[in-house]
Amino acid sequence: MDFSKHPLRIFFSYYKPHIGLFIADMICAFFMAAIDVAFPMFTRYALNTLIPNHELKTFFTLVAILLAGFCLHKGCNFFVAYWGHVFGNRVEQDMRRDVFDHLEKLPFSFYDTNRTGKIMARATTDLFEITELAHHGPEDFSIAVLNLLGAFIMMLHIRWELAVIVVVVLPVMIAIGIVSRHNLMQASTKVKETTAEVNAGLESSISGIRVTKGFANEDFERKRFDVYNKQYSAAKQLRFRCMASFFSNIEFCNNLLSLVVLAAGGYFIMKGKMNLPDLVAANLFVAAFRAPIGKFNFLVEQFTTGMAGFNRFLEIMRTEPEPTDAPDAVEILSARGNISFKNVDFSYTADFPVLHDVNLDIHSGEKFALVGASGGGKTTICNLIPRFYEITGGSISLDGIDIRSIKKRSLRTQIGIVQQDVFLFAGTIRENIAYGKPGATDEEIELAARRAEIHDDIMKMPNGYDSVVGERGIKLSGGQKQRVSIARCFLKNPPILILDEATSALDTTTEIKIQQSFDELSKGRTTLVIAHRLSTIKNADKIAVVNDHGIVEIGTHDELMAKHGEYYRLQSAQQE
Ligand code: ADP
Ligand code: MG
Repeated sequence: MDFSKHPLRIFFSYYKPHIGLFIADMICAFFMAAIDVAFPMFTRYALNTLIPNHELKTFFTLVAILLAGFCLHKGCNFFVAYWGHVFGNRVEQDMRRDVFDHLEKLPFSFYDTNRTGKIMARATTDLFEITELAHHGPEDFSIAVLNLLGAFIMMLHIRWELAVIVVVVLPVMIAIGIVSRHNLMQASTKVKETTAEVNAGLESSISGIRVTKGFANEDFERKRFDVYNKQYSAAKQLRFRCMASFFSNIEFCNNLLSLVVLAAGGYFIMKGKMNLPDLVAANLFVAAFRAPIGKFNFLVEQFTTGMAGFNRFLEIMRTEPEPTDAPDAVEILSARGNISFKNVDFSYTADFPVLHDVNLDIHSGEKFALVGASGGGKTTICNLIPRFYEITGGSISLDGIDIRSIKKRSLRTQIGIVQQDVFLFAGTIRENIAYGKPGATDEEIELAARRAEIHDDIMKMPNGYDSVVGERGIKLSGGQKQRVSIARCFLKNPPILILDEATSALDTTTEIKIQQSFDELSKGRTTLVIAHRLSTIKNADKIAVVNDHGIVEIGTHDELMAKHGEYYRLQSAQQE
């Protein structure tokens, strides 16, 4: 879909797949409106003609017809209330699918700058408001218009002066309603904002509870939370006041309308210009006006909040996704693993260059280490190879092919990455290992686990490979998690491996144990290692020292030690 079009056009394009249901919904809404108008009409006829003339049979036939009408009304009402919402729900499902699809396509930079909670609201609460609008909007609008129009025509028929009075009073009522709705809506927005703040405050306090207890700062936290809590409560109180004033205004307007009609009708009757049954019917029509007026007011609110939600939805949909592959992009099935950086420039944000004129040559099968103070750009260099970020100058090539002319999927399947913190998805340990190769057989998973030396640990867990990991399940130690991610890489079996401080968070004993798994994993692969402890990369084929000025030294351990430069200084610092 083209998301640059006008929001309303995009909005209605979501109706298309469910148009049948929507039309049925609208037909039912139409019937409901028609029956609503018919009732006062029949009442007037009965009062004016049938009852005075004692036409018993016709009268009860009419009652029977009205009964049938009300049964139809009930059926339609049910249809609108149930299937109308189902329709909205389906539209919502489609939109949520599209948001999720798009989220999957968005680049790292999007996730660097947007908070998870905010993104999640886009895909849940915001969408709900849109779907309420999707069906209630057209339903309420058509019902209200039909009701108002029908009632107005009937009033004209009874006494045109009455209709004129109503037409003059009505817009005033609608205006009052819209103004007080508007206040109510602003108060609601404020409540929503403060809800988000209370939630954020809660989340931060709960996640930090261990730190809080460690510093015995419970009182401090309590006071901090109290501020959010009071703001939230105040916002709700304001909302209640707006609500109270809204409902009392509406009720007053309704009463006023009835009174005006009674006054005018009474006057006409006393002047002999109208009879009593007409006044009764006119009053019923006034009652028929009330519902649509309420609907109109409600619609204004629903439209504004729904459209605000929809615009936030569009904001995500219009965020530029990762660049798609060029039409002539090539597919690589198995890379040899020669990686070359030529005059590479890169910055995350326009005003802050991170890499400038970086040149690197990593040969197939080599173990290439990047070392240096943190913040120098080592992780950044690694992120550029699978194109998590796009370089701003120069070129990176794999086996002599510019990575921008390789299909992204195939490029990324060539590279395995192990980082410091391992993310485990909610699920079983089997599923988490199989993430490296969806559809892997149990034998393959077990083999990978054995090679990563995690198999024995898994067998000790209560449900073996089917043990659930994560927040509600088993807690894995840092070393175990790291082995799970190594097992994933064994399954994925990529020719290129990136180990970004994979063992930095572990203690030295665990590190040494895991080191064997890493050595096993990197056999026969081009391996890029970022290491915190220099002892682990001593045997690398090449070592590059990275600092703020870029790559300052490249060579083997012995060469760099002999040089007495930056690497030598790093080594001496660690020895101490
Ligand atoms: P290293 O891995 O050597 O410690 P990084 O590559 O992580 O260093 O970071 C290099 C520089 O880029 C740092 O100044 C850091 O603040 C900045 N940086 C890292 N990641 C991001 C990001 N996602 N957005 C903006 N700046 C970043
Ligand atoms: Mg890093």
